[in-house]
Amino acid sequence: MKHLPDYIQRIIDDFDKLPGIGPKTASRLVFSLLNRKDDVQRFSENLAEAYQKVNYCEQCYNLTDKKFCSICSDPQRDQTVVCVVGHNQDVDSIEKTNQYNGLYHLLNGLLSPLEGVTPDDLKINELLKRIEKKELKEIILALDQSLEGEATAIYLTKILKKYPSVIVSQLARGIPMGANIEYTDEVTLSSALKNRNKL
Ligand SMILES: [Zn+2]
Repeated sequence: MKHLPDYIQRIIDDFDKLPGIGPKTASRLVFSLLNRKDDVQRFSENLAEAYQKVNYCEQCYNLTDKKFCSICSDPQRDQTVVCVVGHNQDVDSIEKTNQYNGLYHLLNGLLSPLEGVTPDDLKINELLKRIEKKELKEIILALDQSLEGEATAIYLTKILKKYPSVIVSQLARGIPMGANIEYTDEVTLSSALKNRNKL
């Protein structure tokens, strides 16, 4: 937009790069923020603080500002069960069900031949190292019901066969095809977790 100063256009372009936001929504969000001066000040400070402090948990790759995240460092949680998810927001969704008391492993994405995401881009080797290092009993695959989620589940199931002592299970099919874990309601997700299938 030529009528705007360059620095505003740059913020709009940055918002436009975020998932699920097109150019129209990007401009709407930026205009709305700029019209709320107090909010925009707080917003930029919080963002700067998060950028400074936040890092990945050394065990599960969840976001944290410590060496290990609050879930990994909670002694009440079952250290022998690991739920494998693609994204940070999936941890939120599963935690909201209050049905899961194990740990997580974030892959930080899903396999996607179309977008050139290969196993090396995901935290898969880190998962295998975790299995080798600790006495894990069960790995639960909680991946999106999408082409990428399916491809990731097939790949993981194949390489996890190397560890016969670990039970590998997958969320039950209560989750509709095409649905992301993130957008699945808590009741459906709870029952998919409870009725998970052994692979
Ligand atoms: Zn962690």
